[in-house]
Amino acid sequence: MYAIKRELKLNNKQKSFFAGCAGFSRFVYNHGLSLLKATWDIPEISGSDSKRLDGIKKVFTNITKKQEEYGWTNKYSSRIYQNAFRDLKKAFSRWRNPQSKANLPRFKKKKHHCSFTVDSSNGKVLVKEGKQIKIPTLGTFKLKEAIPDNCVSQTFTISREAGKWYVSFAVSACKIPEMKHSQKRVGIDLGVKTFATLSDGNTFETPSSIKKAKTKLGKIQWRNRNKVHSNRRSGISASKNAIKYYQKLRKKHKRISNIREDFLQKTTTLLAKTYQHILIEDLNVKGMMANHKLSDALSSLGLYRFRELLSYKQECFGFLLTIVDRWFPSSKTCSVCGNIQDMPLQQRVYRCQNCGQVMDRDFNASKNLESWNADGLSVNPERSRRVNACGLEGAVSLG
Ligand SMILES: [Zn+2]
Repeated sequence: MYAIKRELKLNNKQKSFFAGCAGFSRFVYNHGLSLLKATWDIPEISGSDSKRLDGIKKVFTNITKKQEEYGWTNKYSSRIYQNAFRDLKKAFSRWRNPQSKANLPRFKKKKHHCSFTVDSSNGKVLVKEGKQIKIPTLGTFKLKEAIPDNCVSQTFTISREAGKWYVSFAVSACKIPEMKHSQKRVGIDLGVKTFATLSDGNTFETPSSIKKAKTKLGKIQWRNRNKVHSNRRSGISASKNAIKYYQKLRKKHKRISNIREDFLQKTTTLLAKTYQHILIEDLNVKGMMANHKLSDALSSLGLYRFRELLSYKQECFGFLLTIVDRWFPSSKTCSVCGNIQDMPLQQRVYRCQNCGQVMDRDFNASKNLESWNADGLSVNPERSRRVNACGLEGAVSLG
């Protein structure tokens, strides 16, 4: 976790707007503080400071803000006063904490306190590298110094110090600088034969230790095929050996899942560190589950887990993950000429009937994924639907 702080390049209109925001924040903070102190003298009101402040906030939202004389508060983002109340709560819990030396919170003065905080109500947002920043609920602003890398954050504090305006936010990662030398885009095809085929030619194979462990497991299962654990309906209880066997089985399964988890963690971290933009295919869950053998192979490979890990590591490493629409015919399309032809699952090599290109099936698919764009590289427009950029895209588009 580290913080990024940058000076903002604002025009006069923006400056006075931000001063207004800070004033609003200060007003709410002081308003909450005075009311909370007032409640201490009323014996009928009980409960912690935090509970009292919740009550005060409710009154502020539902009654105070709606009164005519407070109409000016509606000019500003509601996230400002939400955060002002949050700060006030924190200040009181610090003061109440016997181990901390914090003083009783005092009223904020215009002279000393010119800052406010906003956050994104729907999770973390992508902060793009460069000399601009998009702040949730406020808009896009210019920066004096560029943000070095893409990163993700949720809460942004804007403050004025010695006449200059700054924005600061926390980034929950320590490895982002490694991204610098890799502005690469890559398509990844996931498969049963080769776990992951990358459009730059790299591949990731499922570790052989998993295959070995699985063979062992199969043997044990075969040898113990007649053991019955227990069956309450037919009144059979498990023998001691059966109990032992099932314990052993659980251990073996756990071992396999541990190896797989380790492999998936390492692979996704490596990918996250190396590439700026990763495009993978949406896994057609229903369609694949309909194919019994395939569904088994896929679930044991951990493809879903792979995607889950990638999408969660976006936050730590700041790359972008795009889930390509599952109707996009990545396997059937020629990555050279765009020709579409049928590709049965067992056909491992793509031989283009149009341009004669011969290519590994998975590599061809990964190439297509890499060059995919929201408008659909797909030649058949009916089949190319809109993107699904894995949550982030939705969260990024702020007002
Ligand atoms: Zn072709």
